[in-house]
Amino acid sequence: MPAPIAIPGLDEFLNDQPFISIQPSNGNSLLLEGDFQFCAEHEGHPQINDTYNLQISIPQEFPRRVPTVSEIGGRIPRVNDFHVNGNGTLCLGSRIRLMARLQAEPTVHGFSKTCIVPYLYAMSLKLTHGQDFIFGELRHGIDGELDDYKELLGLKRNNQVVPALLCLLKKKRLANKMPCPCGCKKRLGKCDFNVAVRKFRNVLPKAWLREVVTGKR
Ligand SMILES: [Zn+2]
Repeated sequence: MPAPIAIPGLDEFLNDQPFISIQPSNGNSLLLEGDFQFCAEHEGHPQINDTYNLQISIPQEFPRRVPTVSEIGGRIPRVNDFHVNGNGTLCLGSRIRLMARLQAEPTVHGFSKTCIVPYLYAMSLKLTHGQDFIFGELRHGIDGELDDYKELLGLKRNNQVVPALLCLLKKKRLANKMPCPCGCKKRLGKCDFNVAVRKFRNVLPKAWLREVVTGKR
């Protein structure tokens, strides 16, 4: 188990969540478990105070890798409609969205605020008010991920996504010489699309991008 002190934002998170504690773990991740409390609201929807019994696994490579979260209290039905993955972890969003949020605030506290709370807020609205998942139906599987990358990068077709990710993996000077993934038939350096590439090049960790491109996790 890594020394807890090495994990950014852990103290702040544990201060905010007095009923969550560090659990013994024999793997390479830090295990946090207990009642996760939050209070949140979103325009046009009621304020919600709620609690879920969660298990949060913080990987050793955090924040270059996204934590996984499971609900162990049995409140969330383990079916696709409720955005729970086959292995019981919560489907908090596509990998690219979670990674972009995490890199914007790369701490446990930030992950909790930008990835866990919005999901649980939408879940509580769904469970207690029958409200459809308010942040849009999260997409599942590879096609869903590709759609998400496409949207975030501002591309039109799924088959442009991998070439765009390959541009992100190259150094700027080399990427600018590659054919632009947007379909403009220019070099990337001559197209406005390089603005999107520049934005994500500094946000998404290279090792992680490589895994996405090769399909290995
Ligand atoms: Zn272009």
